[in-house]
Amino acid sequence: MLRERHRSFTGSTTLLKELNRSLVLDALRQQGSLSRAQLASLTGLTAATISNIVEELIAEGYVRSEGQGASQGGRKPTLLSLVPGARHVIAVDVAVDRVTVAITDLLARTLAMEVLPSPAGKAPLAVVDEVAAAVENLAHRRSCPPILGVGVAFPGPTDVETGTALTAPNLPGWDHVPLRDLLAERVKLPVYVENDANAAALGEKSYGAARGVRHLIFLLLDLGIGGGFLFGGEIYRGFQGAAGEVGHMIIDINGRRCGCGSTGCLETVASGIALVRRRAERLGREEPEKLSLLLDAARLGDAQAVADLNEAARYIGVAVASLANTFNPEMIILGGRLAVEYPPFFDLAAETARPRLLPLIQHHTQIAMTGLGRNACLVGAASLVLQTIFQPLRLAGNAP
Ligand SMILES: [Zn+2]
Repeated sequence: MLRERHRSFTGSTTLLKELNRSLVLDALRQQGSLSRAQLASLTGLTAATISNIVEELIAEGYVRSEGQGASQGGRKPTLLSLVPGARHVIAVDVAVDRVTVAITDLLARTLAMEVLPSPAGKAPLAVVDEVAAAVENLAHRRSCPPILGVGVAFPGPTDVETGTALTAPNLPGWDHVPLRDLLAERVKLPVYVENDANAAALGEKSYGAARGVRHLIFLLLDLGIGGGFLFGGEIYRGFQGAAGEVGHMIIDINGRRCGCGSTGCLETVASGIALVRRRAERLGREEPEKLSLLLDAARLGDAQAVADLNEAARYIGVAVASLANTFNPEMIILGGRLAVEYPPFFDLAAETARPRLLPLIQHHTQIAMTGLGRNACLVGAASLVLQTIFQPLRLAGNAP
């Protein structure tokens, strides 16, 4: 893999140097401790190049010597490893009912976080101001090494070239918001914006359940339903950047009206929003309760809550099978609170999907639980920034 990427690159000297550095950093991130000789063999770079890059990375604090490895006949080689705290990253997960801002290390591990109230009903500018204030707090609270940038996971289609939030089906008022520029102006750091499920798919690939997987679909099952498609290791965006809106796959020709304006979408029967609304209607309440209360009720054995969640899980299972039969991914990951916080949900969805997979793919399609728990989108947001140093070729030119 590393060798292939190296060979296919023919850029300018500076870019080539950047790429070589990232090959070394990425090898250390993935493998832990390595000797210079192992780095050379893994990356395909010469011993002299490795030696120069390592010297530079040690001087910058990214890499340190860490004891000695086993001798291969001669002198024992010095082992090198990545220093996870050498630089920090800010991750922002904009969800419908909350905004989470975290500071992470180079392995996308959260060091501190702030949870802000729901962005619903607020002007985007007000939300950006709150996020910027949280970023300032987190950056100054710790005796911080330099911060590489801010990654933002947004709950709707985004234009990654311009960092624009195009729309959010469950967050009215967020149409064509230049999120990257608004935030970058305030925090004075590079900002990268990506759809939340796409970000989560990237996070799973680098830090979660899908390491080494090249054809992956991540389903974000929360208040809304999102999909992140990673095909051949790259995010599939479609013609306008709107691909992956799995929640608006139509599954009932006579179904209810959806927030997107259509009818019978998957979100009308299997999303957290649909579940809490249906429960409120049944109980004669004006306002739906929080999703966490419904999940608590189901875990405590509330028969109606269990029945509603189980039905939603079966619908998700049908969607999983349809996506697998259409796209033939190697793995479909279920994440979001419905999957993470109500354990039977995943099993029921997988059980529903399996017999509906085409015979050719039935035994080769993995249906997996998120490896990142509730933090999938947050880790995904961090990985938007981290890939600029570990895998710069995948960078979509999103920073200002
Ligand atoms: Zn819809």
